[in-house]
Amino acid sequence: MPIYSHSQLSTYEECPLKYKLRYRDKIKRDVESVEAFLGGTVHETLKKCYDHVKLARLATLDELLASYDNLWQQNWHDGIVITRKDVTADDYRALGRKMIETYYQRHAPFDQDITIGTEMRIRFSLDDGGRYKFQGVIDRLARTQGGIYHIHDYKTSAYLPSQEDIDNDRQLAFYQIGVQKRWPGVQEIQLIWHYLAFDCLLVSQRSQEKIAELAEETIRLIDELEATEEFLPKESDYCKWCEYPDLCPTRKHLYTVEALPANEYLSEPGVVLVNRYAELKEKAGEIDEEMAKVKDALIDYARQEGVTVLKGSRYKVRVKFGEKLGFPRKGEPAHENLDDTIIQAGKWPEVSQLDTTALTGIVEKGLWDKELIDQVMKYGRIEETSAVYLSKLSEEE
Ligand code: SF4
Repeated sequence: MPIYSHSQLSTYEECPLKYKLRYRDKIKRDVESVEAFLGGTVHETLKKCYDHVKLARLATLDELLASYDNLWQQNWHDGIVITRKDVTADDYRALGRKMIETYYQRHAPFDQDITIGTEMRIRFSLDDGGRYKFQGVIDRLARTQGGIYHIHDYKTSAYLPSQEDIDNDRQLAFYQIGVQKRWPGVQEIQLIWHYLAFDCLLVSQRSQEKIAELAEETIRLIDELEATEEFLPKESDYCKWCEYPDLCPTRKHLYTVEALPANEYLSEPGVVLVNRYAELKEKAGEIDEEMAKVKDALIDYARQEGVTVLKGSRYKVRVKFGEKLGFPRKGEPAHENLDDTIIQAGKWPEVSQLDTTALTGIVEKGLWDKELIDQVMKYGRIEETSAVYLSKLSEEE
């Protein structure tokens, strides 16, 4: 079984097809979102900062900013994608600088805890048998003088989660499992997120029960993933940043035609078919509306004249009148009372949300006991039905 990670499992949950392309088929793409590039550059700068501290050397803010600018310049590449039209690469670079500045001002001289490792790879298994192997990279692992372990994570996103989100986040909780397996004597661990764009620090702690639950849930998820044979695409907002639009059945056509010049775009066979279908569908909607009106008029006419067959030039129409059992519909006053009767009888799932058509079927087939049917029938009524059938006139007609 492969070694899993938090990002692999999240990708699988986000979209099984993307997971397959990225982790099973290992298809590499030279594209990267500017947000990911910004995050990577800030992470590397803060790593440098703490690597200096480990050597008892305090980097100045200017040194760190210069290092950040260098990394930005050296690593920038043509595959970086900026999806927001109103923001430039320079805006993103300035945003990263600001994050480093505020972080520095809040934490210098960085002696709140003792750094054990930066960008620290950690490997462990979720089960005692060592079958479900897991790995991750801790942005910074540290220990206080009092022996509390801190698992730090830097976030550069423009979204600040709630405390509840943080308490349910599983990434750092996975790392807690890894730290506890590596140092079984550790008594207390704090999970700390630095939301750098907001100069905000969020802290969460996990009980041993919560950690055990997480391990069990994750093992179940891995089992599901391992048993998956068909990795289907799952469309969502994440598609905007997906690196495989050309390999995904939900995006491939869009991806292909959006690169075409306007005149070619409009004559592309798929585009032509969709446009034609949409046009016809619109017309069909208008025709359906018109047909419903004519049908009602036919029924009214037949009722008024006391006839059941009406003759046209080439066709005739047969109007059939009848009766059927019906019940008060949603919005009618007696509907709620009927609903209560069925709920109290424990039969609600059979007609969920009081589906009156299903109820009619049950009563007509006598599927419930007589007493309940009698109770329900208090609300029953005979409703008039009508149907219209069109056929070609025969030669004699
Ligand atoms: S484009 Fe969307 S649906 Fe297709 S693979 Fe990517 S994330 Fe999945």
